[in-house]
Amino acid sequence: MTKTKIKKALVLGAGGFIGSHLVKDLKKRGYFVKGVDLKKPEYSKSGADEFVIGDLRDQKMCKKVIDRPFDEVYQLAADMGGAGYIFSGEHDADVMHNSATINLNVSYYGQKAGIKKIFYSSSACIYPAYNQKDPDNPNCAEKSAYPAAPDSEYGWEKLFSERLYLSFRRNYGLDVRIARFHNIFGPEGTWRGGKEKAPAAICRKVAEAKDGGTIEMWGDGKQTRSFLYIDECLKGIRKLMDSKNFFGPVNIGSDEMVTINKLAEIAMKIGDKKLFIKHLPGPLGVRGRNSDNKLIKKSLGWKPEMRLEEGIKKTYEWIENQVKIKAFNVK
Ligand code: NAD
Repeated sequence: MTKTKIKKALVLGAGGFIGSHLVKDLKKRGYFVKGVDLKKPEYSKSGADEFVIGDLRDQKMCKKVIDRPFDEVYQLAADMGGAGYIFSGEHDADVMHNSATINLNVSYYGQKAGIKKIFYSSSACIYPAYNQKDPDNPNCAEKSAYPAAPDSEYGWEKLFSERLYLSFRRNYGLDVRIARFHNIFGPEGTWRGGKEKAPAAICRKVAEAKDGGTIEMWGDGKQTRSFLYIDECLKGIRKLMDSKNFFGPVNIGSDEMVTINKLAEIAMKIGDKKLFIKHLPGPLGVRGRNSDNKLIKKSLGWKPEMRLEEGIKKTYEWIENQVKIKAFNVK
């Protein structure tokens, strides 16, 4: 009887939102998984076989953790957060320096260690601001990335790192796969503290509010976005990693575009509350953004299908529970 070889995966950023879900997904698929992060997952135990607490900005640490020719490496580690973190301008130097250093180290030591394949998580934030002014018709087709004009330093770093990994592909034959994620959300994501994104922030505000009360929102709420549930994101990653010859960059996102006001309405319906929205000035990002899914459909024969409301329901329930736990602990 032939023994099937167990695939070995390394997940960088395994303590984060997408990383911790990805580790569980890989374990279900029978991989050996090693995880690395500055911290362990906050809301559940990591599923990794080995978990190293380490700083990937440190060259020695990076070299040490990529200690074998892994079959698959997933590079998710980054200094990131929601609009309040990325667009305020206060964290630009850290965001650029920290994430670029991680990617410089990972690409270099990954190639040296002879890794077989590497997934890099880029972002919709690389798309030019000039194509995202009309909230009803944003252009986020992959080929629209150039001439480059991201609206944040976070987006510029992602674009630089895409090019870095693509250079390793061209010059060293490294099998690089690149996805541009569009607003991934779900249970066990950051839901408070300043780094949370719109779906989690809105679910928290609705869950904390009394029926008939008021919630605050940055901007007029007419800016548009799309949001992708974590399980769909994991399916997209898998499709891209398993593809024979397509390596991206490709959007992994939903094309169900909604206004932020609509997102709040969905959360209120799920929470069964009628709330007033108080609009305040705040960091916003581009006016409109939506995932263009033509390339992923054509190249991988797949695109996400889950409706936003279904994903928000699962997320709302988890956040509502977190709010209850927090309130209980304060008493
Ligand atoms: P996250 O912040 O939850 O996870 C990132 C992890 O990287 C964190 O756990 C953090 O501790 C770790 N990290 C940061 N600096 C590190 C360092 N120096 N050494 C080791 N670990 C370090 O974010 P996420 O939502 O899970 O996103 C994962 C990746 O996907 C990121 O690269 C992010 O930029 C990208 N992305 C996410 C989204 C989204 O909507 N969540 C959208 C676009 C792109």
